[in-house]
Amino acid sequence: MVQAIQSPPAEAEWDTTLIRSYDVAGPRYTSYPTANLFDESFTANDYLQLAAAERFNIAPLSLYVHVPFCRNICYYCACNKIVTRNRALVRQYLDSLAREMDLRGRLHTRRPVTQLHLGGGTPTYLKEAELTELMHQVASNFRLCDHESREYSIEIDPRTVKDTTIALLKGLGFNRISLGIQDFDPLVQGSINRTQSPESVENLVHKIRDHNFKSLSFDLIYGLPQQSVRSFQQTIARVIDMSPDRIALYNYAHLPTVFTSQRAIDRQTLPSADTKLAILDTVGRRLLDAGYDYIGMDHFVRPGDELELARHNHKLQRNFQGYSTSLAADLIGLGPSSISQFGDTFSQNAKDLQRWSAALSKGHLPIVRGLHVSNEDKLRRHVIMTLACQLSLDIPEVEQRFGINFASHFESSLTQLKAFARDGLVEITQTTISVTGRGRLLLRNICMCFDQYLLNADRKSDGPFSRTI
Ligand code: SF4
Repeated sequence: MVQAIQSPPAEAEWDTTLIRSYDVAGPRYTSYPTANLFDESFTANDYLQLAAAERFNIAPLSLYVHVPFCRNICYYCACNKIVTRNRALVRQYLDSLAREMDLRGRLHTRRPVTQLHLGGGTPTYLKEAELTELMHQVASNFRLCDHESREYSIEIDPRTVKDTTIALLKGLGFNRISLGIQDFDPLVQGSINRTQSPESVENLVHKIRDHNFKSLSFDLIYGLPQQSVRSFQQTIARVIDMSPDRIALYNYAHLPTVFTSQRAIDRQTLPSADTKLAILDTVGRRLLDAGYDYIGMDHFVRPGDELELARHNHKLQRNFQGYSTSLAADLIGLGPSSISQFGDTFSQNAKDLQRWSAALSKGHLPIVRGLHVSNEDKLRRHVIMTLACQLSLDIPEVEQRFGINFASHFESSLTQLKAFARDGLVEITQTTISVTGRGRLLLRNICMCFDQYLLNADRKSDGPFSRTI
């Protein structure tokens, strides 16, 4: 299908007054439908049936491995993790993971792995010999590739690595590193139980650069206890000095009834909504001034970054790690709580280490929930992901691809979107919907207009989603 020629996306315009007026809870659209809609009617048998039908598939594959362990608790954390010093659990995990890789690898033998991501928890909780063992298992059960274009990434907690670990990761085939930074201010670090000096991170960054990793990302969080505009400005100044290729700037959502470790945070020490907005404003402008481009939905990149090029070439996609280049359509998740996106299905492993392990020791896939993507889901996913990634939608292309009349099919979505157009967030013509520079800050809200499940949901509550501010 011929893609209409589109003008390049407008520069992001930072307008926090606008952000404040659109502050509602909503998904980040790392998938559509979103993971809260998975249920137990989807079983491992559904996955196995699909895998049997797909056994001759040779298309590239993406792998995600969840390493659930952490040495210490960070109070703000909302991840699926096990805080422990009990190394026997690591042995159990690695043995079970080898079983899962054996089961899954047999189902996807012909497919080259173009993307691999180790996330957690803390992947570098594993000792060097354990990381080597894990990667040996991956290489034994899947077709790893050594092509320059592969994207093999790992999340690093700077407090857990030695210089030798960085050399080892390079040797194991990783070419991208993501560092959990959050904030450099000692007072903030003390109040979230995560102390790491900027100097130690700087040394690590030098080491990573010395080993010629292709890309370095930083994760930051705003809205943490004791944060102020001034303190976070200092953090950002140090971050800019270290010049990571990508920056993910996440919003801390305080939900102590859901995440028990957050009860250790004194609510009185959290910045007010106005301060959070001021922090976001200052930081956003500072990063744009420093030359970063705002890709959308929390992500900033240096000019010329592969994500920016991927947008230009219509190859940008969203998956459970955020934005990525479209190197593979299917994603297989390994380890407790991991999610797979395979064909027209989503499936999730048991979150609990023991339950996940028990299924594998009986020779079963540890899938406990998921869903089949309907034709309507596929249409809406295409619209949402195209807007989130390309910032514009070619309406005749969608009509032709899905055999619909766009105006009548999306009548209520377009009614909502017209209000956004009056605020200058989108431009709507007979043939295109384009996100403006102002709208790039509110991509989530724009995408939400096309989310069928939100149209039917009780919008008085936030549900499982975080707010913009
Ligand atoms: S934030 Fe990361 S390192 Fe800290 S407890 Fe959560 S998963 Fe572990």
